[in-house]
Amino acid sequence: MRPEALNPLFVECDALDGVGPKIKKPLDKLGLTRVRDLAYHLPERFVTRRPVEDLDQASEGEQIVIALTPVEHRAPRNNRGPYRVLAQDSVGNICALTYFGRASYTAKKLLPVGEKRWVSGRLDRYGDMLQIVHPDHVEKEGGGALARLNEPVYGLSEGLTQPRVVGLVEQALARLPELPEWIEPSQFEREGWPAWRDAMHLAHKSENASARDRLAYDELLANSLALMLVRADNRSRKGQSLRGDGSLRGKLQLPFPLTGAQTRSISEIEGDLAQEAPMLRLLQGDVGAGKTVVALEAMLIANEAGKQAALLAPTEILARQHYETIRSMAAPTGVEVALLTGRDKGRARESILMGLMDGSIDIVIGTHAIFQDSVAYKDLALVVVDEQHRFGVQQRLQLASKGKRTPHTLAMTATPIPRTLTLAQYGEMDVSRLDEMPPGRKPIITRVMSMERMGEIVDGVARHLKTGQQAFWVCPMVHESEAADLAAAEARYAALNDRFGDAVVLVHGQMKPEEKDAAMERFVSGEASLLVATTVIEVGVDVPNATLVVVEQAEHFGLAQLHQLRGRVGRGSEQAVCLLLRSNALSETAKRRLALMRETQDGFRIAEEDLELRGGGELLGTRQSGDTPFRVANLEQITRLLPAAHADARLLMERDGGLSSERGKAARLLLYLFERDWGVQLLRGG
Ligand code: ADP
Ligand code: MG
Repeated sequence: MRPEALNPLFVECDALDGVGPKIKKPLDKLGLTRVRDLAYHLPERFVTRRPVEDLDQASEGEQIVIALTPVEHRAPRNNRGPYRVLAQDSVGNICALTYFGRASYTAKKLLPVGEKRWVSGRLDRYGDMLQIVHPDHVEKEGGGALARLNEPVYGLSEGLTQPRVVGLVEQALARLPELPEWIEPSQFEREGWPAWRDAMHLAHKSENASARDRLAYDELLANSLALMLVRADNRSRKGQSLRGDGSLRGKLQLPFPLTGAQTRSISEIEGDLAQEAPMLRLLQGDVGAGKTVVALEAMLIANEAGKQAALLAPTEILARQHYETIRSMAAPTGVEVALLTGRDKGRARESILMGLMDGSIDIVIGTHAIFQDSVAYKDLALVVVDEQHRFGVQQRLQLASKGKRTPHTLAMTATPIPRTLTLAQYGEMDVSRLDEMPPGRKPIITRVMSMERMGEIVDGVARHLKTGQQAFWVCPMVHESEAADLAAAEARYAALNDRFGDAVVLVHGQMKPEEKDAAMERFVSGEASLLVATTVIEVGVDVPNATLVVVEQAEHFGLAQLHQLRGRVGRGSEQAVCLLLRSNALSETAKRRLALMRETQDGFRIAEEDLELRGGGELLGTRQSGDTPFRVANLEQITRLLPAAHADARLLMERDGGLSSERGKAARLLLYLFERDWGVQLLRGG
């Protein structure tokens, strides 16, 4: 049960003044459903604005406050274009106030022609016109704007404005309770951090590094502690020691010798399985590193010991793929392999359920359907989870409860992440790394080209499509608003469509799932040959005939993302090519990132360097990608603070593993606060 002290934080946002159904949707979209979430919705950055009398005094890119008088409203020519209000300063200069999407409706009301308004925002240029895109504030009187020249900037979604969020955050902060300290006293003293509630207030007020660090540390501490509780719980469970005699594995007729990394991983797994304490092991290996055969060997060990094994895949398609591969690889061994997904109904399903119960099925492969309550096993001893990063720790725990005794768990992930993040994300597991690719892979040719050579690039794509092979074209998410990103992707699609006609399909994040599936299906089936997409194609598309990937404005992507995108090609026998299109003005870091992509295809190396480059500050604050399990701590803070948080958690576990001392109780609050309460629930009486 959640401690009462935290109740005010877990009240739904509806309880706040001014939160109705209309604003709930954009809040949900940002994951802001409860008071707690709003309080932790920390500013992305702070802006400092300069008041100017007229536009001549301001420079492009500058944040300003200026009095402007609207002279004309220009509705968009089509429903995707922006709505522009032309406005004049005191000396007659014109500036456009530009609105995308639904924001245009407010523009009409806010900016009546002929009436002076105080506008705050960033001055930009569009063609030869000065403009401010989505002004932060438009007010009748200048007093307000001039009083807050230094202001937090919050992440928004369509339908929210900065002032709205500021108001909600203020209400949330006013409800924060005072909580006991959970950080190790010596650590707390040494850092000179503010107490939790003060830190929350300070972090919203100004760029307060100490407050931000403290809050990040809290999150890291909660995470480490929860993972350690899982590990301790796992150690204390009784599993079953599995020893195979090699009889089944000996019958495999693999068409290739195992790599050194595969052999090493298999023997690490074999060692774990022989123990009575249940295995908790992560198998990390880039796409194509050969994780499937390692999983198969592990499952055969369970079968040799007379037990069952299950393999869990995140999607129906992946489950089917695995079933086909594993069934054919395992054929010479004579083990019974079955597929069970949510789609199986009636007789077929009944017969599989019977087989699992009476033990005639040795290996079952499927989606989460294999762990439903209605599915009973004779003796499930090993669970393999593919694409582990798609499942949370909590789900991992649910799986562990399925066997008579706790089954061994082998988790697999194809996302190479740096060691620090592995600790943060999978700290409760032992790790095996497939850091060696099977021999004979054709490296993907990677080229960096200037966007200015667009004509040539499109000609190249045309030649490529003529050979009958397919291609991806990735558009970035770089604008301040999603609508603007979408407009850019749609413009690119329109241009390519002019050239290639029906052969082009567009897939983006705002499409309905059915529309998206239909478009994807046209591409997968080969009916369409060029897929224009925002980064949504990162998720599991396997089209071996796609051998070219073009990434527009590649400098805006993180290295890990570029690596994932490049990994979409090079799955067939044809030579694959990756074209990274760059803008002309590149920062040093951006140059290094692109150079590294050309230099290596080693996912682990890319992941390490990505962390290092990102630690440099670039990309932080803006659109943080969801590649860490954290919402408060950024990459730089994770790297810097995680070791101490980890040590702190370990010390607490050693002294008070049951979290029953004063500080232990405070730590329980922390776990609930960061929703790592599955950690607490593993404790007796938690
Ligand atoms: P992953 O799941 O790690 O992305 P897979 O297990 O699907 O990779 O393996 C990718 C491909 O490499 C498969 O076609 C597989 O048969 C092949 N493969 C696996 N191990 C080896 C090896 N040691 N030598 C050659 N090919 C291998
Ligand atoms: Mg795989």
